[in-house]
Amino acid sequence: MPASSPVFLDTPKLLDDPLMRHDPAGPTWSQTLPVSVNDTYGDPFIPEQVDNTIVKLRELRWHRAPIAIFTKAGPDAAVLDKLRSVADVSQVVVFYSLTALDEGGISFDDRVVMIRELRQIFPNTLVFTRPIIRGLNDDPKTLQKFVDVAAEHTGLLVLGGLHDPYKKKKIQRPVEELLVEYCDAAGVKCFHKTSCAGAYIHGMECWVHDLSAPRNLDAVSAMGYEFDIIDDSLVLQQGTTGDINFLRMLCRSDVYIEELKSNYNLLTVPAGDHKLEATSSWFAWSENIETCLDCSYCIIKQIEYLKKMRVRIGVHPTRLPSVVSQHGRRIDLSQFRKTKLRDNPGESRHVYEHVRVAKPCFTHRYPSPEQA
Ligand code: SF4
Repeated sequence: MPASSPVFLDTPKLLDDPLMRHDPAGPTWSQTLPVSVNDTYGDPFIPEQVDNTIVKLRELRWHRAPIAIFTKAGPDAAVLDKLRSVADVSQVVVFYSLTALDEGGISFDDRVVMIRELRQIFPNTLVFTRPIIRGLNDDPKTLQKFVDVAAEHTGLLVLGGLHDPYKKKKIQRPVEELLVEYCDAAGVKCFHKTSCAGAYIHGMECWVHDLSAPRNLDAVSAMGYEFDIIDDSLVLQQGTTGDINFLRMLCRSDVYIEELKSNYNLLTVPAGDHKLEATSSWFAWSENIETCLDCSYCIIKQIEYLKKMRVRIGVHPTRLPSVVSQHGRRIDLSQFRKTKLRDNPGESRHVYEHVRVAKPCFTHRYPSPEQA
């Protein structure tokens, strides 16, 4: 794709806000959180969002953990020019959603062009088959097309799914098995979760599956959590699915919650008006905006605090201690009534497997990238 207009970013204005900037005095643990950039409403690589994305990537250049980008954007010469200005891309992992559903009117072929262009800029660009919807894109021919693109352009693929009403990502078992089978036949390394792929690429333990005794307990206290340690697990009296996600990636241990207050990814830390979130694999740093591809299956439009509104989620990870205060207000979860909680009869404690579908880890299924 030929270069077009000169690169112009609205950087100074965005950087007026200290919470957008790297804090050299930020604690070490804050730089080891796997972080996603602009993964709410508003694709990180559309013209309306790309400046914000690039500023965040630049401010994360000292980050020591994988940085995820989730995109379905089509090829745009001006956007690609701007992305070429990102100097440090070593931690960035781009998950490109390839679905054959032509979201936003972008054809399959145009998406393949975008994958090819992105791979030139971000070497760690993967095919992400999310969502797969029964009767629409789960037939063997379409699944094979996804794998063919991965075989030609990325060598790596992550399986995804469609959220059910409980926000569990589901993908039909035979479809999953077929995709793995096709990937194996084509020599494509595939993963069930983005965390497993990010960990494989960066030669590290998977922060969702490779768990042990809790670490970073000083950070758990600094974030305003009250907790116990029982049998090498972190136990909270109350919390959300977001708390489970965040604490697991911070402590790299199992996390239990006695009383699950919400299935949203919001954290219950005392951060006043700041909304902090962690998905199952990533600490979220996002600007939720009014514009995106308007996919028919989009669940973000149903999330009460996001919808199509301008909302800031998260802060630069090094700024986390500065927005959390022992005397700060915790989020009032009673205002969010749409999130569904699943009953787990006979279970007194809530763990990740109760709120999301547990998936096998393929991080260690392949020779490490250095050996491959
Ligand atoms: S409309 Fe929703 S599902 Fe589609 S790309 Fe945007 S955020 Fe993602």
